[in-house]
Amino acid sequence: MDLNTYYITINPVGLTGAPARRYQEQVHEHLRWIHRTISGAILLNCIRRPNFPIEIRPHPLAECNATGGGEAKPVGAGNRGFVTYTPGYFGHSGVCATSDGANTSGRIFDEILFHELVHVFRNATGMWSQSPLLGWGMRQYDDNEEFIAVLCTNIYLSDRSNKIKSGLRDGHRGYGAMSAADAGRFRLFINSASALPLIKQFCADNPIFTKALSDKLPNIDYNPVADYLRFPALCEACSIFGKYNDRKKFDDFLRANGVMAAVIEQLTNPLRVPGK
Ligand SMILES: [Zn+2]
Repeated sequence: MDLNTYYITINPVGLTGAPARRYQEQVHEHLRWIHRTISGAILLNCIRRPNFPIEIRPHPLAECNATGGGEAKPVGAGNRGFVTYTPGYFGHSGVCATSDGANTSGRIFDEILFHELVHVFRNATGMWSQSPLLGWGMRQYDDNEEFIAVLCTNIYLSDRSNKIKSGLRDGHRGYGAMSAADAGRFRLFINSASALPLIKQFCADNPIFTKALSDKLPNIDYNPVADYLRFPALCEACSIFGKYNDRKKFDDFLRANGVMAAVIEQLTNPLRVPGK
């Protein structure tokens, strides 16, 4: 993977000699892992633009964190993308290491980097907006941009061309595993009424990226973007059910739209009833 093609620079700020070279090699390797997958190649191709170069540099604090977004260029006009990411933090002896095997979802090197690159992508396309409110059922995502970053990383985790990975992450507060009730297809729309408008907005903001995620990864276990773009009426029905908890209305809608009884059963059983 040629970094120049993607206008990416790996800058080992604060490091010299062998540690600086090691930093560049490790980050480049993790970018290669992302680039080899379908969803990763889509993300990198949608980010790349000559007027928005990206700098990846070490995270400045010794804490279990990484950041990504847009910033003013140090020289010249305009903005650039940045990621602060230190691979060592996420290794066996790093500040993010876990000894009990819990809280590991979305926490492998490339998964962390992918998440931050989604933040860069939203800045590169001028669509960064934390303001749309998340409903109570989505409070674990903190804000709209974290929802989008976690959502896309979960699609990356479900992408079958991504061979070495953890599991679906349940939100932005820690690295817990998503429950089976939340991971099922269409469950996102059922479990929170605010999910559908947010996904709709994301698809309107970034049509090329979301369409590619849908077209190239239509039948993976977790891809609410594809589910929305391919089955908008069904997502609408799920959202209505989640909002009004009206099982009859939901069943009637599905039947009226030719959804088979077996599929209805699979979708609705066991339904997590809001508020219970
Ligand atoms: Zn984030």
